[in-house]
Amino acid sequence: MTLFEWQQALWQRLLADREKLPHAMLLAGPEGLGKLAFGQALAARLLCEQAPDEPGAMACGKCSSCVWLVSGNHPDFRLIQPEDGEEAGAGSEEAGEGISPQAAGRKVGQGSIRVDQIRALEDFVFVGSHRQGNRVALISPAEQMNPAWANALLKILEEPPVGVYFILVSSHWRRLLPTVLSRCRSIVFGRPDALTAQRWLSGQGIKDAGELLQLAGGAHLVAADWAEQGRLDVYRKAIEALAEKPVDPVAIAAKWAALLKAEQGFALPQLVEAVQKWVFDLAMLKIAGGCRYHEAWRIVLERLAAKASGTGLMACYNDLLRIRAVARHPLNTQLFLEDMAARYLRALATGRS
Ligand SMILES: [Zn+2]
Repeated sequence: MTLFEWQQALWQRLLADREKLPHAMLLAGPEGLGKLAFGQALAARLLCEQAPDEPGAMACGKCSSCVWLVSGNHPDFRLIQPEDGEEAGAGSEEAGEGISPQAAGRKVGQGSIRVDQIRALEDFVFVGSHRQGNRVALISPAEQMNPAWANALLKILEEPPVGVYFILVSSHWRRLLPTVLSRCRSIVFGRPDALTAQRWLSGQGIKDAGELLQLAGGAHLVAADWAEQGRLDVYRKAIEALAEKPVDPVAIAAKWAALLKAEQGFALPQLVEAVQKWVFDLAMLKIAGGCRYHEAWRIVLERLAAKASGTGLMACYNDLLRIRAVARHPLNTQLFLEDMAARYLRALATGRS
């Protein structure tokens, strides 16, 4: 288990005095920064039976506790993951390397966490350690805990037994109950700077790391995920339809339809997002003279933006936000694509008078 280079300082600060480690920690920050992997490393360190006696040392990776943890059989560890669902998709970007969710005793269930699972957690907390050491519960994504769960957790946190640690992971921590928040020490993850992230991506053998990172809004694990799926090529094809002398909405829609058909994993919502980012950059160029996602396409963007108005582009961006909500289940995909292309072409022409 390794940490990203930019997480080292956070780790060292947190583990500087292990005696003072709080019983409840919240790892908070945007998606795609490796918070869950950090939480897993922390759990491993707390459970490890032969970690070097230095303040910032990581788990040894060799003792029986470490081996059990990796194989998913550690009796003093629980990984609690509320159901997939609304937030599906975020998980794969977060997981990183480490303990596999299934192996780690993932609670596979129906809907939100059930009462018997809460009882199981209470038993885990109050019955005592199997290995005479610490016990760790890792909850991710914590904002998906239902109220019954949050209340059970609060009750435990009022008087946590010695050696019991809760690690909560959340990308939307403002949704957590204030009472839960107030009982946790927040450890806030920031994005690595662009150069560090780009260096890391290149170090993973990823080509066009800079372009990918920009498209992913700076989230390096998202960019790595996209590289693995070959998403950059698909993305470029989706953009080409917008960039090359766009005049005919039916022709643009036909190119998109062919792309959606050919590429598994690239569906309508992803296409709308791609178009949205493109229009966002057109508007930004027009209004502020900079772009956020497509520096590599700047010359084309400038040419296109020349004939458009800032307000027209912003209106188109807002339109796309609205239609993105129905992109999962359009009544008629072909009409949806033609409509989106027509909106884009109209926005491009708003600067002509
Ligand atoms: Zn160990």
